[in-house]
Amino acid sequence: MQKKIKLKKNPPRQKVNYDKQMLEIVEDFKDMEEQPKMFIHSCCAPCSSAVIKKIAPYFQLTVFYYNPNIDGESEYDKRAKCQQRLIEIYNEEKVSRNPIKIFELGHSKEDFTDISDRLGEYEEGGLRCMRCFHLRLKRTLDLATEMGFDYYCTTLTVSPHKNARIINQIGSYLANDKVKWLPNDFKKRNGYLDSVNLSKKLGLYRQCYCGCKHSRLESEEYRAAKALENSTQFVAK
Ligand code: SF4
Repeated sequence: MQKKIKLKKNPPRQKVNYDKQMLEIVEDFKDMEEQPKMFIHSCCAPCSSAVIKKIAPYFQLTVFYYNPNIDGESEYDKRAKCQQRLIEIYNEEKVSRNPIKIFELGHSKEDFTDISDRLGEYEEGGLRCMRCFHLRLKRTLDLATEMGFDYYCTTLTVSPHKNARIINQIGSYLANDKVKWLPNDFKKRNGYLDSVNLSKKLGLYRQCYCGCKHSRLESEEYRAAKALENSTQFVAK
């Protein structure tokens, strides 16, 4: 008689605390005479406002503003200028031991054309976003490697709309033997709330959609539906 094979159940997906992992890595960096060099990708000034404050005590920071996903030149310029202004404010306030540097490649929107054309119909948070994260992280890592940085990461996980597990998986998968990925979940320990409050306090331009044409259209549709719902409720009262 054939022996019955007992199938093993898949182990439940373990929740990783990326914020705790980060704190364990950086704990000794604060008092180092020469702190490790960090190349941090920034999606926008409002998100980076809280993230920079969080990691500034541990690293020599260079903020990399690379966002070819942003729809339209004027929107790109507005966001890039705001990022520049934030770094100037933080350097005046001396939020880190060494002045924070900023590196910008320009809009480079053609880098995003293929993703936008082929994956436009995916909802926010789906495949289009994964490819968008990959594009920005890969470029960040390549430059960090070329310029001799020790670590790289991104501000993206501060947003409650972004999946920290996916971002960390892409970041650690890409990392090489020269540049390490810093695990992170910047929304933890009030990160998102801090970014909202800091943006208000510093008068930073806060956009109402993520960046690409598709996210802009989704946001416009959502706001139009909300306005219609509110006006219908008003008439019904
Ligand atoms: S919604 Fe945001 S993360 Fe997703 S593809 Fe558009 S710009 Fe990139």
